[in-house]
Amino acid sequence: MAHKYVYLFSEGNASMKNLLGGKGANLAEMTNLGLPVPQGFTVSTEACTRYYEDGKKIADDIMAQINDALKKTEEIVGKKFGSLEDPFLVSVRSGARVSMPGMMDTILNLGLNDVAVKGLANLTNNERFAYDSYRRFIQMFSDVVMGIEKSKFERVLDKIKEDKGAEYDTDLTADDLKVVVEKFKALYKEEKGEDFPQDPKDQMMEAIKAVFRSWDNPRAIVYRRKNDIPGDWGTAVNVQAMVFGNMGNDSGTGVAFTRDPSTGEKNLYGEYLMNAQGEDVVAGIRTPKHIDTLNETMPEVYKQFVNIAKTLEDHYRDMQDMEFTIERGKLYMLQTRNGKRTANAALKVAVDLVSEGMLSKEEAVMKVEPKQLDSLLHPTFEPKALKAATPIAKGLPASPGAATGKVYFTADDAVEAAKSGEKVVLVRLETSPEDIEGMYASQGILTVRGGMTSHAAVVARGMGTCCVAGCGDIKLNEAAKTFTASGNTYKEGDYISLDGSTGNVYGEALKTEAPSMTGDFATLMGWADEIRTLKVRTNADTPKDAAAAVKFGAEGIGLCRTEHMFFEEDRIPAIREMIVADNLEQRKKALNKLLPMQRSDFKGIYEAMEGRPVTVRLLDPPLHEFLPHEDEDIKELAKDMGISFDELKETVDSLKEMNPMLGHRGLRLAVTYPEIAEMQTRAIIEAAAEVNKEKNLNVVPEIMIPLAGDVKELKYVKDVIVKTADTVLKEKGVDMQYKVGTMIEVPRAALTADEIATEAEFFSFGTNDLTQMTFGFSRDDAGKFLEDYYEKKIFESDPFARVDQNGVGKLMKMAVEAGKATRPDIKLGICGEHGGDPSSIEFCHRIGLNYVSCSPFRVPIARLAAAQAKVTNG
Ligand code: PEP
Ligand code: MG
Repeated sequence: MAHKYVYLFSEGNASMKNLLGGKGANLAEMTNLGLPVPQGFTVSTEACTRYYEDGKKIADDIMAQINDALKKTEEIVGKKFGSLEDPFLVSVRSGARVSMPGMMDTILNLGLNDVAVKGLANLTNNERFAYDSYRRFIQMFSDVVMGIEKSKFERVLDKIKEDKGAEYDTDLTADDLKVVVEKFKALYKEEKGEDFPQDPKDQMMEAIKAVFRSWDNPRAIVYRRKNDIPGDWGTAVNVQAMVFGNMGNDSGTGVAFTRDPSTGEKNLYGEYLMNAQGEDVVAGIRTPKHIDTLNETMPEVYKQFVNIAKTLEDHYRDMQDMEFTIERGKLYMLQTRNGKRTANAALKVAVDLVSEGMLSKEEAVMKVEPKQLDSLLHPTFEPKALKAATPIAKGLPASPGAATGKVYFTADDAVEAAKSGEKVVLVRLETSPEDIEGMYASQGILTVRGGMTSHAAVVARGMGTCCVAGCGDIKLNEAAKTFTASGNTYKEGDYISLDGSTGNVYGEALKTEAPSMTGDFATLMGWADEIRTLKVRTNADTPKDAAAAVKFGAEGIGLCRTEHMFFEEDRIPAIREMIVADNLEQRKKALNKLLPMQRSDFKGIYEAMEGRPVTVRLLDPPLHEFLPHEDEDIKELAKDMGISFDELKETVDSLKEMNPMLGHRGLRLAVTYPEIAEMQTRAIIEAAAEVNKEKNLNVVPEIMIPLAGDVKELKYVKDVIVKTADTVLKEKGVDMQYKVGTMIEVPRAALTADEIATEAEFFSFGTNDLTQMTFGFSRDDAGKFLEDYYEKKIFESDPFARVDQNGVGKLMKMAVEAGKATRPDIKLGICGEHGGDPSSIEFCHRIGLNYVSCSPFRVPIARLAAAQAKVTNG
């Protein structure tokens, strides 16, 4: 038998979502449940894929199946396309596997032509209604299917309204609308060079093609990328008998949810309009009524609807979002789906459904989208204030949250202002490690340049600070300390607000609200923790971040980047001294100044983690990053250090590298300057020994070597660490365990993981660098050209945000297997940005990692994603 591409509603069911799309599968399921559904058929997602494979054509076999399904539907409904007696009219709607609201196309009233319109007029005894439907159809078909601009039709309509002295569309008579129809058809002919198609079958085929095409319209592509929806899924198309909510005062249409989608409260929530079609409810010209009032207008229909709503919710065991139409007193269900809801509502509904006995805890955990939790962990704008405000610019939503404060243009100014008690928003062209203190001091960070993995974005996410990056809408004048946006100029001290979840920038102070993590949030997260097997750690460099992460449920630190500690005001002189030292003695002297500071840093972190495991990474970035670059600053530093400007300038110049990310960084620094690793090891071990004694803890420090690619270089640095650590333990007379491991972030390390594991007691995948080096894409600059990759459909998602499972992931999998073969009890984790991304977390679960590590604010997301990974994969 030929492959089946077209299904009558009576031939499908809810489990066929992949094939029939969400809408088609649910229409079939409602049909099976015996609910009043206008009948029709679904053209499958496979037909959409074939359409693209066949060069944007509907193949003959599929066409034949569509015509066959049409014939059967006409028989079921008892109407005929183009009939004068009882014309069959349909809606043609998209329906992907997961709902993509508003992303694709819909065509209503299809089947109307010069004959059918008369049939409709006779049948309804309402000529005005028939011609009103016809003119709406011509416009919709021309716009959506044929690409003729809607405004051209609107201009024609406005002109006729003006001629007739009509204020609203509803003021036009049947005869007026006949004129509109003629003018619309003339406009069509003028635009297309042919008559408006009169054969309903032609109209239908064209409409189906248009829906297939809309799968690939730019807004759908962007939506898919944001929501991790693969491009090869395709959309199904539903062809369904029309019912009319605009046939008089006993007709109407509406939308309702079985629970409140913004709070999750268990009560019917929705709106309807009498004598209207769906688009009137959306258009907002008339104010819809609350669903409860239907009880007064049409008590029987209301009762029936309430029953259906309950049947559907019980059946799907989830909150439903339903569309319905009442045609001359008879209720029809047009759609049902699991309703979109706010994060708060999602938690409440999931927890309530468990207490109502409808869901198991495992099922409830699957009902909440991990990324949604984000909005609950950061301050948000008061909904009312946000609604009333208009953005002045839009950038990338780089780190979520809401920030309001006074604008400052340098890190130093931001720090000064924050010290005097002001709330600050830092505005920079882009940020660099030198800005770190200013970033800490700020409520939010706005940059003109940079992508989602730019310095500002990564650091802000780590801090849990709101950030809008790459905001080219604003013109920054660094020298004048001003920026302009939407025609206004903002200067130092002016208030602005940033929404890190949307990328919107507002030119005023907006009120914010604090997050709360109790109640349903705590209940659901408790279930997630019971279920998951993957541990969740955090990336944290300060006791403050560490403590915040523990509150969010972190079970350890997976990455403490020691370099971040060196940028603080009291450290930077000593680190600079160390870098410019031209002999070992000088360098050791400078390192000795740093030792007590590092030790107290680590003590603070161990204390905040209360005995949980802590992985500390040795110094990683190219040393040049720590040095001043402007002559003025070099002069000042030379003076402080008692050396000449020329001498220092020469050192600074000599440290410049053409390609610093592939240069003298990571463990290569420790190969050249083992004394740096010695100092850091000493600080790590001494701090742990002291904290264990003072606080009666049992910290087992994990010392991590960055950027290894060869077992011999790893061994060289490991030997330095072990020798130092053992010396310190002997000096202190303590017996304490510690571990030495490595990051896997150079492809060669993954390829030779069996060798690497002979030295490393643990692996932590540094997928930021591993992605950078596997693709050969600069992690700091790729954002600029990746947009072209999405647009040209070369990439669907950002490999720096979501693990590229086929490439980078393959290296990870190999490394896991080879590492375990050498050392069966090896500990495996990930600490790149991907450690907080739900789909990457699922991958980490599948390849058998022990933990993921992410920024504090993503810890709850990771806990939930890890639980979902367990439920899905076992
Ligand atoms: C990484 O490369 O993934 C990593 C965690 O290290 P960093 O981002 O500090 O280079
Ligand atoms: Mg790295």
